[in-house]
Amino acid sequence: MLPAEPIIQPSTRIDCIALRGHTIWVKRDDLIDPFLSGNKYYKLYRLIHTAPKELHTLKSWGGAQSNAMLAIAALCHRKGWRFEYATRTLPAQLSDAPSGNLKVALELGMQLQEYAPKAFANAITSLRGQHRPGTLVVAQGGADAMAMDGIKKLADTIEAWRITMGFDQLCLATPSGTGTTAAGLAKALPHLTMLTTPLVGDCDYLLEQIGAHGPIPDNLQILDRGGHHRFAKPEAKFLSLFEEIREATGIVFDLIYGVPMWHALLHAIDNIKPPILYIHSGGLSGNATMLERYASLQKP
Ligand SMILES: *Cc1c(COP(=O)(O)O)cnc(C)c1O
Repeated sequence: MLPAEPIIQPSTRIDCIALRGHTIWVKRDDLIDPFLSGNKYYKLYRLIHTAPKELHTLKSWGGAQSNAMLAIAALCHRKGWRFEYATRTLPAQLSDAPSGNLKVALELGMQLQEYAPKAFANAITSLRGQHRPGTLVVAQGGADAMAMDGIKKLADTIEAWRITMGFDQLCLATPSGTGTTAAGLAKALPHLTMLTTPLVGDCDYLLEQIGAHGPIPDNLQILDRGGHHRFAKPEAKFLSLFEEIREATGIVFDLIYGVPMWHALLHAIDNIKPPILYIHSGGLSGNATMLERYASLQKP
């Protein structure tokens, strides 16, 4: 058994930044923990506060560089739980030399199970149906009903801050993968506006994912990025915006979710009523592999 780890504390820090002449508040949830940061901290909140003896194994599935994967691996490492993670067969390059989130998760003891595409779908179906004592199956990306516990905590912190600041309304912004965080916050704070943009698939796919868990909150506004976007595709405009924001504010955002969300937000900002609170969704551990991909694109 590992010694009891101190429970990770949420970050309450909110910075005021100036970007392209706009004043925007940023909730610094990137500062919570290097691996269990941003919305993953809140989605896994209930498990972070679960006694180690309550469980022995966590199982999940998804992409080989997933931030949720790394967050669960870090959680299991602290709790002394086994972590089994199902993914599609790795490309030879990654299998020979694991990098980024995968490397760290493996170092934290994650047991990786690779499946060919067809077998992967069956493996997920079987995982979803599993109910074994001491074992918990966490849906891809942490998109579980369980996530709502932590998202409510996040909503309470935001609401307390809004009242302290004397704002009678507030526009929240955060990027979406599964949409669990954005929809959960919109539901918990029905009197505020929640802005998001889809990074996995398009607007219809995001609405479908959110709709699978309940009605779409009226106060959720999805900024359409237009057209089809391949997940995590490096784009020159994102790299330059990443650098611009870092230079102007000193804050680093992740290149997969955060920077495209800023791109959509800045595009729409003249039609958004301030004050705006951007909720940093963490994920900085993924930037190293993304920056490598950008660097290899720039080679002649
Ligand atoms: C997981 C993740 C998201 C997406 O969160 P959802 O609740 O799945 O929409 C956004 N940003 C970062 C950095 C993430 O790691």
